[in-house]
Amino acid sequence: MTIVLGAIADDFTGATDLANNLVRSGMRCLQVIGVPGPELDVSEVDAVVVALKSRSCPADEAVADSLAALAWLQAQGARQFFFKYCSTFDSTARGNIGPVADALMERLGVTQTVMVPAFPVNGRTVYQGHLFVGDRLLNDSGMQHHPLTPMTDADLVRVLASQTPHPVGLAPRSVLDHGAETTRQHLAALAEQGVRHVICDTLDEHDLDVLAEACEAMPLVTGGSGLGQALPDRYRRLGWLDEIAEPGRLQPASGSALVLSGSCSRATLAQVAHFLAQHPGFALDPLALAEGGAQLEAALDFAREALKSGGPVLVYASADPEKVKAAQARLGVEHAGQLVERALGQLAATLVNEGVGRLVVAGGETSGAVVSALKLNTLRIGEQIDPGVPWTQAHLESREAPLSLALKSGNFGGVDFFTRAFEVLP
Ligand code: ADP
Repeated sequence: MTIVLGAIADDFTGATDLANNLVRSGMRCLQVIGVPGPELDVSEVDAVVVALKSRSCPADEAVADSLAALAWLQAQGARQFFFKYCSTFDSTARGNIGPVADALMERLGVTQTVMVPAFPVNGRTVYQGHLFVGDRLLNDSGMQHHPLTPMTDADLVRVLASQTPHPVGLAPRSVLDHGAETTRQHLAALAEQGVRHVICDTLDEHDLDVLAEACEAMPLVTGGSGLGQALPDRYRRLGWLDEIAEPGRLQPASGSALVLSGSCSRATLAQVAHFLAQHPGFALDPLALAEGGAQLEAALDFAREALKSGGPVLVYASADPEKVKAAQARLGVEHAGQLVERALGQLAATLVNEGVGRLVVAGGETSGAVVSALKLNTLRIGEQIDPGVPWTQAHLESREAPLSLALKSGNFGGVDFFTRAFEVLP
């Protein structure tokens, strides 16, 4: 068995976002964390998304990791490759979108690829090569202040041109409007002029469909998770993909239910308050964690007792901005974060070992800490709970039944996310 689509994502939650869209459009999908070994079985899926941490690391590292992921995906027989980055084109002054795309193209021996970051349902659109977040240009959207990848220019042709020695072109909306064939001709004309990278305008889902069709013969496409919505339909039309009734079907969940939250985002704080009105919870305090192991022990005792009923039970460090600032002032930003991440990772590992089988984690960094504490490297992607957040399932050596896991980054999810997640899980 071979896979249809092999994707390389430049960060963890971005990988989940793409995988979620692929499942929703009819592909069975596996997310792997880092480049897997040759023994991983992909016989039951149509797509694999390899999650790297290549967004803001040095460009040569990002290139090396991406090429290793490509080699692995090629060995799985993927028919098309997808380099996935953020819908806000998050990159540093040196890359890594340009260098990684160049390296992948060179390795695949192709002379052109498209750049389709847009995700219209989330308000990310591209017009005349300029990226908008809602009604704001990218450089006026808040992204200009991002700590690692500040985006100070919305003109993606110019942004990408600073990351690659090769010419960058544009597929404007006026061309897409005439459909896939005209778009293909436009791309071919650009290719004749030596244009290797083409930034693509995208205003809506229809544009994504046109682009997916125009690029169906390209070995490599690049973009945000929006393009992932449109590709599976092309694969079905090409006869590469069967109609799959329930691509997000997972094995029935079992075991007690736990929520771990290290996110202090506004949406998470509301979700924590909503949960605590109905279910038990334990608040972790980084200042107490800094004083030794007593608080972690107390949290464990509390969780063990409360989980006897099956849960759901919440352990959280989530706190309002003033409390967070106070802890950071005493401990330093990084140390406060590490204490919390380490504690939540240890809680996850211990409690899963003792019978938790349904786990919700809130926070992007927190999710990373829990995933590594549990030593997970493969997630099968299930049904979506809320936009961008699916249930997933992982096999652990310590558990016979799979672990059901939902990883929610900060601002995702409705106010009742922590309770509804368990209600929708079969
Ligand atoms: P989000 O997805 O909401 O950004 P993250 O988990 O990525 O959430 O980041 C939140 C960070 O804040 C983590 O490093 C976490 O350990 C840290 N943190 C959580 N609670 C507190 C707290 N009470 N005080 C200080 N830092 C905290």
